Amino acid sequence: ERIVQGGDLEAVSENPSTNGSRILVFVRLRPTAKKEKEAGSRCCVKIMNKRDVYLTEFGSENDYLRLKRLRGRHFTFDASLPDTTTQQEVYNTTTSELLEAVLQGRNGSVFCYGATGAGKTYTMLGTIDNPGVMVLAIKDLFYKIRQRSCDGDHTVHLSYLEVYNETVRDLLSPGRPLVLREDKQGIVASGLTQYRAYSTDEVMALLQQGNQNRTTEPTRANETSSRSHAILQVIAEYHAREGTNIVTRVGKLSLIDLAGSERSLATDQRTLRSIEGANINRSLLALSSCINALVEGKKHIPYRNSKLTQLLKDSLGGACNTVMIANISPSHLQFGETQNTLHWADRAKEIRTKACMTNEETMQMPETETDQAKLVLELQKEN
Ligand code: ADP
Ligand code: MG
Repeated sequence: ERIVQGGDLEAVSENPSTNGSRILVFVRLRPTAKKEKEAGSRCCVKIMNKRDVYLTEFGSENDYLRLKRLRGRHFTFDASLPDTTTQQEVYNTTTSELLEAVLQGRNGSVFCYGATGAGKTYTMLGTIDNPGVMVLAIKDLFYKIRQRSCDGDHTVHLSYLEVYNETVRDLLSPGRPLVLREDKQGIVASGLTQYRAYSTDEVMALLQQGNQNRTTEPTRANETSSRSHAILQVIAEYHAREGTNIVTRVGKLSLIDLAGSERSLATDQRTLRSIEGANINRSLLALSSCINALVEGKKHIPYRNSKLTQLLKDSLGGACNTVMIANISPSHLQFGETQNTLHWADRAKEIRTKACMTNEETMQMPETETDQAKLVLELQKEN
Protein backbone atom coordinates (compact mmCIF):
# COMPACT_ATOMS: atom_id res chain seq x y z
CA GLU A 1 0.00 0.00 0.00
CA ARG A 2 1.11 3.48 -0.77
CA ILE A 3 1.53 5.70 2.23
CA VAL A 4 0.43 9.30 2.00
CA GLN A 5 3.21 11.68 2.83
CA GLY A 6 2.49 14.85 4.72
CA GLY A 7 1.19 17.46 2.32
CA ASP A 8 -0.05 14.89 -0.16
CA LEU A 9 -3.57 15.93 0.68
CA GLU A 10 -3.09 19.65 0.97
CA ALA A 11 -6.69 20.14 2.02
CA VAL A 12 -5.88 18.40 5.27
CA SER A 13 -2.70 20.13 6.20
CA GLU A 14 -4.50 23.47 5.96
CA ASN A 15 -6.79 22.30 8.74
CA PRO A 16 -4.75 20.45 11.31
CA SER A 17 -7.12 18.40 13.43
CA THR A 18 -5.23 19.41 16.53
CA ASN A 19 -6.57 22.97 16.52
CA GLY A 20 -9.75 21.83 18.28
CA SER A 21 -11.87 24.63 16.91
CA ARG A 22 -14.16 22.69 14.65
CA ILE A 23 -15.04 19.22 13.55
CA LEU A 24 -13.15 17.89 10.57
CA VAL A 25 -15.38 16.17 8.06
CA PHE A 26 -14.28 13.67 5.44
CA VAL A 27 -16.18 11.67 2.88
CA ARG A 28 -15.17 8.19 1.79
CA LEU A 29 -16.65 6.69 -1.36
CA ARG A 30 -16.58 2.92 -1.54
CA PRO A 31 -16.10 0.93 -4.76
CA THR A 32 -19.12 -0.45 -6.59
CA ALA A 33 -19.94 -3.88 -5.24
CA LYS A 34 -20.15 -6.88 -7.54
CA LYS A 35 -23.83 -7.29 -6.74
CA GLU A 36 -24.51 -3.68 -7.64
CA LYS A 37 -22.72 -4.09 -10.98
CA GLU A 38 -24.80 -7.17 -11.72
CA ALA A 39 -27.96 -5.23 -10.87
CA GLY A 40 -27.04 -2.64 -13.50
CA SER A 41 -26.14 0.02 -10.99
CA ARG A 42 -24.75 3.31 -12.34
CA CYS A 43 -22.31 5.52 -10.53
CA CYS A 44 -23.95 8.71 -9.26
CA VAL A 45 -21.04 10.28 -7.35
CA LYS A 46 -17.94 12.00 -8.60
CA ILE A 47 -15.07 13.32 -6.49
CA MET A 48 -12.90 16.12 -7.84
CA ASN A 49 -9.90 18.07 -6.53
CA LYS A 50 -9.68 15.74 -3.49
CA ARG A 51 -12.37 17.84 -1.77
CA ASP A 52 -15.47 18.27 -3.92
CA VAL A 53 -18.28 15.73 -4.18
CA TYR A 54 -20.83 15.90 -6.99
CA LEU A 55 -24.08 13.95 -7.06
CA THR A 56 -25.81 13.08 -10.35
CA GLU A 57 -29.18 11.51 -9.88
CA PHE A 58 -29.28 9.81 -13.26
CA GLY A 59 -25.67 8.79 -13.31
CA SER A 60 -24.72 10.91 -16.31
CA GLU A 61 -21.06 11.74 -16.30
CA ASN A 62 -21.22 15.13 -17.99
CA ASP A 63 -21.72 18.74 -17.02
CA TYR A 64 -20.58 18.79 -13.41
CA LEU A 65 -20.39 22.56 -13.59
CA ARG A 66 -24.15 22.67 -13.95
CA LEU A 67 -24.39 20.67 -10.72
CA LYS A 68 -22.27 23.19 -8.95
CA ARG A 69 -25.17 25.61 -9.21
CA LEU A 70 -27.74 23.12 -7.97
CA ARG A 71 -28.26 23.24 -4.24
CA GLY A 72 -27.70 19.96 -2.50
CA ARG A 73 -25.75 18.42 -5.36
CA HIS A 74 -22.33 19.80 -4.70
CA PHE A 75 -20.42 19.58 -1.42
CA THR A 76 -16.96 20.43 -0.20
CA PHE A 77 -15.23 18.67 2.69
CA ASP A 78 -11.83 18.74 4.39
CA ALA A 79 -10.98 15.88 2.08
CA SER A 80 -13.05 13.58 -0.07
CA LEU A 81 -11.58 10.14 -0.51
CA PRO A 82 -12.30 8.38 -3.82
CA ASP A 83 -12.97 4.64 -4.13
CA THR A 84 -9.31 3.91 -4.82
CA THR A 85 -8.20 5.17 -1.39
CA THR A 86 -6.42 2.54 0.70
CA GLN A 87 -7.13 1.88 4.36
CA GLN A 88 -3.73 3.30 5.28
CA GLU A 89 -4.45 6.49 3.34
CA VAL A 90 -7.80 6.83 5.11
CA TYR A 91 -6.05 6.48 8.46
CA ASN A 92 -3.28 8.92 7.58
CA THR A 93 -5.70 11.54 6.31
CA THR A 94 -8.35 11.35 8.99
CA THR A 95 -6.85 10.07 12.23
CA SER A 96 -3.05 10.15 12.47
CA GLU A 97 -2.93 13.75 13.69
CA LEU A 98 -5.50 13.00 16.39
CA LEU A 99 -3.25 10.27 17.67
CA GLU A 100 -0.48 12.75 18.23
CA ALA A 101 -2.90 14.83 20.33
CA VAL A 102 -4.00 11.79 22.33
CA LEU A 103 -0.37 11.04 23.20
CA GLN A 104 -0.15 14.55 24.58
CA GLY A 105 -3.07 13.89 26.91
CA ARG A 106 -6.01 15.16 24.91
CA ASN A 107 -9.19 13.40 23.85
CA GLY A 108 -10.17 12.72 20.29
CA SER A 109 -12.84 10.86 18.42
CA VAL A 110 -13.56 9.57 14.96
CA PHE A 111 -17.09 8.74 13.81
CA CYS A 112 -18.17 6.78 10.78
CA TYR A 113 -21.61 7.83 9.63
CA GLY A 114 -23.65 6.52 6.71
CA ALA A 115 -26.34 4.15 5.50
CA THR A 116 -26.08 0.40 5.98
CA GLY A 117 -23.69 -1.04 3.40
CA ALA A 118 -21.90 2.26 2.81
CA GLY A 119 -18.61 1.01 4.30
CA LYS A 120 -18.56 2.12 7.96
CA THR A 121 -17.41 -1.18 9.45
CA TYR A 122 -14.92 -1.68 6.64
CA THR A 123 -13.49 1.76 7.38
CA MET A 124 -13.35 1.29 11.15
CA LEU A 125 -12.55 -2.40 11.64
CA GLY A 126 -11.69 -3.61 8.14
CA THR A 127 -10.53 -7.14 7.42
CA ILE A 128 -7.45 -9.17 8.34
CA ASP A 129 -5.87 -8.31 4.99
CA ASN A 130 -7.04 -4.71 5.05
CA PRO A 131 -7.29 -3.57 8.65
CA GLY A 132 -9.19 -0.34 9.24
CA VAL A 133 -8.78 2.80 11.32
CA MET A 134 -9.22 1.06 14.69
CA VAL A 135 -6.35 -1.33 14.09
CA LEU A 136 -4.12 1.13 12.25
CA ALA A 137 -4.54 3.66 15.07
CA ILE A 138 -3.42 1.15 17.68
CA LYS A 139 -0.52 0.08 15.47
CA ASP A 140 0.55 3.69 15.10
CA LEU A 141 0.14 4.28 18.82
CA PHE A 142 2.50 1.42 19.67
CA TYR A 143 4.92 2.64 17.03
CA LYS A 144 4.95 6.15 18.46
CA ILE A 145 5.27 4.88 22.03
CA ARG A 146 8.26 2.72 21.04
CA GLN A 147 9.87 5.81 19.55
CA ARG A 148 9.57 7.68 22.84
CA SER A 149 9.87 4.77 25.23
CA CYS A 150 12.97 6.11 26.92
CA ASP A 151 11.04 8.98 28.46
CA GLY A 152 8.68 7.45 30.99
CA ASP A 153 6.06 4.81 31.32
CA HIS A 154 3.31 4.32 28.71
CA THR A 155 0.30 2.04 28.96
CA VAL A 156 -2.53 1.35 26.50
CA HIS A 157 -5.96 0.12 27.52
CA LEU A 158 -8.84 -0.81 25.23
CA SER A 159 -12.57 -0.89 25.86
CA TYR A 160 -15.06 -1.92 23.22
CA LEU A 161 -18.75 -1.35 23.76
CA GLU A 162 -22.04 -1.39 21.97
CA VAL A 163 -25.17 0.71 22.21
CA TYR A 164 -28.15 -1.18 20.87
CA ASN A 165 -31.75 -0.28 21.55
CA GLU A 166 -30.64 2.05 24.38
CA THR A 167 -28.75 -0.74 26.09
CA VAL A 168 -25.00 -0.53 26.61
CA ARG A 169 -23.01 -3.76 26.42
CA ASP A 170 -19.37 -4.71 26.86
CA LEU A 171 -18.18 -6.29 23.61
CA LEU A 172 -15.01 -7.67 25.21
CA SER A 173 -16.89 -9.45 27.96
CA PRO A 174 -20.50 -9.97 26.94
CA GLY A 175 -23.02 -10.27 29.71
CA ARG A 176 -25.41 -8.07 31.54
CA PRO A 177 -26.01 -4.52 30.28
CA LEU A 178 -23.72 -1.85 31.68
CA VAL A 179 -25.01 1.04 33.76
CA LEU A 180 -23.82 4.55 32.92
CA ARG A 181 -22.82 6.84 35.77
CA GLU A 182 -21.26 10.22 36.05
CA ASP A 183 -17.91 10.67 37.78
CA LYS A 184 -15.24 13.35 37.78
CA GLN A 185 -13.96 12.27 34.38
CA GLY A 186 -17.43 12.35 32.82
CA ILE A 187 -19.84 9.58 31.99
CA VAL A 188 -18.46 6.09 32.53
CA ALA A 189 -19.91 2.64 32.03
CA SER A 190 -19.49 0.76 35.33
CA GLY A 191 -17.69 -2.53 35.09
CA LEU A 192 -16.55 -2.00 31.50
CA THR A 193 -13.53 -4.16 30.62
CA GLN A 194 -10.30 -2.24 30.26
CA TYR A 195 -8.03 -4.56 28.31
CA ARG A 196 -4.33 -3.87 28.70
CA ALA A 197 -2.84 -4.17 25.21
CA TYR A 198 0.85 -4.86 24.61
CA SER A 199 1.05 -5.26 20.86
CA THR A 200 -0.88 -4.73 17.64
CA ASP A 201 -0.90 -8.42 16.78
CA GLU A 202 -3.38 -9.36 19.49
CA VAL A 203 -5.70 -6.46 18.71
CA MET A 204 -7.25 -7.49 15.37
CA ALA A 205 -8.39 -10.84 16.77
CA LEU A 206 -9.71 -9.14 19.89
CA LEU A 207 -11.71 -6.60 17.92
CA GLN A 208 -13.07 -9.16 15.48
CA GLN A 209 -14.22 -11.26 18.39
CA GLY A 210 -15.77 -8.14 19.89
CA ASN A 211 -17.50 -7.37 16.62
CA GLN A 212 -19.00 -10.85 16.62
CA ASN A 213 -20.49 -10.02 19.98
CA ARG A 214 -22.43 -7.15 18.43
CA THR A 215 -26.17 -7.61 18.42
CA THR A 216 -27.59 -9.29 15.35
CA GLU A 217 -31.14 -8.90 14.09
CA PRO A 218 -33.14 -12.08 14.77
CA THR A 219 -34.05 -12.41 11.11
CA ARG A 220 -30.47 -12.21 9.84
CA ALA A 221 -28.49 -14.31 12.25
CA ASN A 222 -25.01 -13.65 10.88
CA GLU A 223 -25.27 -9.97 10.10
CA THR A 224 -24.59 -7.27 12.61
CA SER A 225 -27.68 -5.24 13.27
CA SER A 226 -27.71 -2.05 11.30
CA ARG A 227 -29.01 -0.41 14.48
CA SER A 228 -26.02 -1.17 16.67
CA HIS A 229 -23.35 1.42 17.47
CA ALA A 230 -19.85 0.17 18.33
CA ILE A 231 -17.42 2.34 20.27
CA LEU A 232 -13.75 1.50 20.73
CA GLN A 233 -12.00 3.52 23.41
CA VAL A 234 -8.23 3.60 23.32
CA ILE A 235 -6.76 5.06 26.50
CA ALA A 236 -3.10 6.05 26.40
CA GLU A 237 -1.56 6.82 29.75
CA TYR A 238 1.84 8.24 30.48
CA HIS A 239 3.75 8.65 33.74
CA ALA A 240 7.15 10.21 34.01
CA ARG A 241 9.45 11.89 36.45
CA GLU A 242 10.46 15.27 35.20
CA GLY A 243 12.98 16.71 37.61
CA THR A 244 11.24 16.70 40.97
CA ASN A 245 7.78 16.31 39.48
CA ILE A 246 5.66 13.36 38.47
CA VAL A 247 3.76 14.08 35.28
CA THR A 248 0.68 12.07 34.36
CA ARG A 249 -1.03 12.38 31.02
CA VAL A 250 -4.12 10.50 29.94
CA GLY A 251 -5.46 10.75 26.40
CA LYS A 252 -8.53 8.98 25.08
CA LEU A 253 -9.28 8.18 21.47
CA SER A 254 -12.84 7.03 20.72
CA LEU A 255 -13.48 5.29 17.41
CA ILE A 256 -17.15 4.94 16.61
CA ASP A 257 -18.89 2.74 14.06
CA LEU A 258 -22.37 4.26 14.11
CA ALA A 259 -25.62 2.50 13.31
CA GLY A 260 -27.00 2.79 9.77
CA SER A 261 -28.26 6.31 9.17
CA GLU A 262 -31.22 5.38 6.98
CA ARG A 263 -34.43 7.14 8.04
CA SER A 264 -32.79 8.92 10.95
CA LEU A 265 -32.75 12.39 9.52
CA ALA A 266 -36.07 13.75 10.67
CA THR A 267 -35.51 16.73 12.89
CA ASP A 268 -38.90 18.39 13.26
CA GLN A 269 -40.94 17.29 16.26
CA ARG A 270 -43.82 15.68 14.41
CA THR A 271 -41.71 13.36 12.26
CA LEU A 272 -39.50 12.76 15.25
CA ARG A 273 -42.41 11.44 17.29
CA SER A 274 -43.76 9.21 14.56
CA ILE A 275 -40.30 7.84 13.98
CA GLU A 276 -39.79 7.14 17.66
CA GLY A 277 -43.12 5.37 17.64
CA ALA A 278 -41.77 3.18 14.88
CA ASN A 279 -38.83 2.41 17.18
CA ILE A 280 -36.17 3.92 14.99
CA ASN A 281 -32.73 4.41 16.45
CA ARG A 282 -33.10 6.85 19.32
CA SER A 283 -29.38 7.31 19.85
CA LEU A 284 -28.73 8.33 16.27
CA LEU A 285 -31.62 10.80 16.34
CA ALA A 286 -30.25 12.23 19.57
CA LEU A 287 -26.82 12.59 17.99
CA SER A 288 -28.39 14.56 15.13
CA SER A 289 -30.25 16.76 17.63
CA CYS A 290 -27.03 17.45 19.55
CA ILE A 291 -25.26 18.35 16.33
CA ASN A 292 -28.08 20.71 15.38
CA ALA A 293 -27.98 22.34 18.82
CA LEU A 294 -24.20 22.71 18.68
CA VAL A 295 -24.34 24.19 15.19
CA GLU A 296 -26.99 26.66 16.28
CA GLY A 297 -24.88 27.62 19.29
CA LYS A 298 -27.60 26.67 21.79
CA LYS A 299 -26.78 26.82 25.50
CA HIS A 300 -28.51 23.53 26.24
CA ILE A 301 -27.22 20.55 24.29
CA PRO A 302 -29.53 17.53 24.79
CA TYR A 303 -26.82 14.96 25.59
CA ARG A 304 -29.06 13.24 28.14
CA ASN A 305 -31.55 12.12 25.50
CA SER A 306 -29.77 8.88 24.64
CA LYS A 307 -27.07 6.48 25.77
CA LEU A 308 -24.89 7.23 22.77
CA THR A 309 -24.90 10.99 23.33
CA GLN A 310 -24.21 10.55 27.05
CA LEU A 311 -21.20 8.41 26.23
CA LEU A 312 -19.99 10.89 23.62
CA LYS A 313 -20.58 14.05 25.60
CA ASP A 314 -16.86 14.70 26.04
CA SER A 315 -16.27 13.97 22.35
CA LEU A 316 -18.61 16.44 20.72
CA GLY A 317 -18.81 19.78 22.40
CA GLY A 318 -16.09 19.54 24.98
CA ALA A 319 -12.34 19.68 24.94
CA CYS A 320 -11.99 17.34 22.07
CA ASN A 321 -10.75 16.90 18.55
CA THR A 322 -13.47 15.35 16.47
CA VAL A 323 -13.41 13.77 13.03
CA MET A 324 -16.41 12.59 11.03
CA ILE A 325 -16.08 10.19 8.15
CA ALA A 326 -19.21 10.06 6.02
CA ASN A 327 -19.32 6.78 4.13
CA ILE A 328 -21.18 6.70 0.83
CA SER A 329 -21.96 4.20 -1.90
CA PRO A 330 -21.44 5.17 -5.57
CA SER A 331 -24.63 3.45 -6.68
CA HIS A 332 -27.57 5.43 -8.10
CA LEU A 333 -29.79 2.96 -6.23
CA GLN A 334 -28.55 4.64 -3.03
CA PHE A 335 -28.97 8.19 -4.32
CA GLY A 336 -31.37 9.27 -1.56
CA GLU A 337 -29.23 7.88 1.27
CA THR A 338 -26.09 9.37 -0.20
CA GLN A 339 -27.70 12.78 -0.46
CA ASN A 340 -28.91 12.55 3.16
CA THR A 341 -25.47 11.52 4.37
CA LEU A 342 -23.79 14.37 2.52
CA HIS A 343 -26.29 16.89 3.96
CA TRP A 344 -25.64 15.58 7.46
CA ALA A 345 -21.89 15.77 6.97
CA ASP A 346 -22.23 19.26 5.56
CA ARG A 347 -24.01 20.33 8.73
CA ALA A 348 -21.40 18.66 10.95
CA LYS A 349 -18.77 20.91 9.36
CA GLU A 350 -20.29 23.84 11.23
CA ILE A 351 -19.82 22.44 14.73
CA ARG A 352 -17.30 24.36 16.74
CA THR A 353 -15.72 22.72 19.74
CA LYS A 354 -14.20 24.43 22.74
CA ALA A 355 -10.50 24.97 23.01
CA CYS A 356 -8.48 21.86 23.73
CA MET A 357 -7.51 21.03 27.26
CA THR A 358 -4.88 18.53 28.21
CA ASN A 359 -5.58 15.84 30.78
CA GLU A 360 -2.26 16.42 32.43
CA GLU A 361 -1.35 16.50 36.09
CA THR A 362 1.90 17.45 37.67
CA MET A 363 2.74 16.54 41.24
CA GLN A 364 5.63 17.67 43.33
CA MET A 365 7.87 14.77 44.30
CA PRO A 366 7.76 14.30 48.10
CA GLU A 367 10.88 14.87 50.12
CA THR A 368 11.11 11.57 51.98
CA GLU A 369 11.10 7.96 50.85
CA THR A 370 7.96 7.03 52.83
CA ASP A 371 6.02 9.93 51.34
CA GLN A 372 7.14 8.78 47.93
CA ALA A 373 5.87 5.28 48.59
CA LYS A 374 2.53 6.73 49.74
CA LEU A 375 2.23 8.73 46.54
CA VAL A 376 2.94 5.71 44.37
CA LEU A 377 0.23 3.79 46.24
CA GLU A 378 -2.21 6.63 45.71
CA LEU A 379 -1.43 6.76 42.01
CA GLN A 380 -1.98 3.02 41.74
CA LYS A 381 -5.28 3.30 43.58
CA GLU A 382 -6.47 5.99 41.21
CA ASN A 383 -5.78 3.81 38.21
P1 ADP B 1 -21.64 -0.74 6.81
O1 ADP B 1 -20.84 -1.11 8.02
O2 ADP B 1 -21.68 0.73 6.55
O3 ADP B 1 -23.02 -1.34 6.82
P2 ADP B 1 -19.71 -2.39 5.46
O4 ADP B 1 -18.47 -1.77 5.96
O5 ADP B 1 -20.12 -3.68 6.07
O6 ADP B 1 -20.93 -1.36 5.52
O7 ADP B 1 -19.54 -2.53 3.88
C1 ADP B 1 -20.47 -3.24 3.04
C2 ADP B 1 -19.67 -4.16 2.10
O8 ADP B 1 -18.85 -3.39 1.24
C3 ADP B 1 -18.76 -5.11 2.84
O9 ADP B 1 -18.76 -6.34 2.17
C4 ADP B 1 -17.40 -4.44 2.74
O10 ADP B 1 -16.36 -5.38 2.80
C5 ADP B 1 -17.47 -3.75 1.40
N1 ADP B 1 -16.68 -2.49 1.39
C6 ADP B 1 -17.01 -1.35 2.02
N2 ADP B 1 -16.12 -0.38 1.79
C7 ADP B 1 -15.17 -0.93 1.00
C8 ADP B 1 -13.96 -0.44 0.40
N3 ADP B 1 -13.54 0.82 0.62
N4 ADP B 1 -13.25 -1.28 -0.35
C9 ADP B 1 -13.65 -2.54 -0.55
N5 ADP B 1 -14.77 -3.07 -0.03
C10 ADP B 1 -15.53 -2.28 0.74
MG1 MG C 1 -21.47 -2.21 9.72
